Amino acid sequence: MGNHAIVIDPGDARPVTDWLVEHGLRLDGVLITHHHSDHTGGLPALLDAFPELVVHGPTSPPIDGVNRPVGEGDLVEFPSLGLKFDVLAVPGHTATHIAYLADDLLFPGDTLFSAGCGRLLGGTAEQLNASLRRLAALPGHTRVYCTHEYTLANLAFARAAEPHNAERDGWLETCRALRANQHPTLPSTIEREKRINPFLRTDEPELIASVAAETGLNPDDSLACFTALRAWKDRF
Ligand SMILES: [Zn+2]
Repeated sequence: MGNHAIVIDPGDARPVTDWLVEHGLRLDGVLITHHHSDHTGGLPALLDAFPELVVHGPTSPPIDGVNRPVGEGDLVEFPSLGLKFDVLAVPGHTATHIAYLADDLLFPGDTLFSAGCGRLLGGTAEQLNASLRRLAALPGHTRVYCTHEYTLANLAFARAAEPHNAERDGWLETCRALRANQHPTLPSTIEREKRINPFLRTDEPELIASVAAETGLNPDDSLACFTALRAWKDRF
């Protein structure tokens, strides 16, 4: 809004500073979702360039450059942008992952991707499943700004896990066209993800049958199905 900006999960500083210069923007703050270096690597250079920069992030583990640790229930305000972010604890990808939600803007980090979700790199399948269900319960029009453009690869797995899903096939065609023209597939929406993302569809009979056929397990509840699905994707 106006000439103000914030940045979420700057893995590199250079694209951020280039964008700020190109658009004549002032950087008012940074939001960090978790400690992985591809989400935090730009912090030292950004803090060199803007020594007063306010950087919000999880309380643990300590992250070099985070100077305002936040957690579940905290509110992060940027009056210059008219934005108030609720901080949501969404463990699973890591044990201390957080997400930021301002009205219908969701920044889920590596918790939720379009047609996919983060790997288990510190948290448990039970935590990630619960975190995804929490995000899926947000209003359908909520826009989902995932940190990574993994959509096409995720959709390839989604087709294997749930072969018959016409809406997902339509989204795949849309995403192929977007990527062919160098456009992002993001943001997605919660409503779309509930219809096409296999990790939010672990109650669907076809998906349960696929997981059973692939793993030889008989997932008798949503968590068992989610756990087996996440493990399948890891080796896909
Ligand atoms: Zn990560």
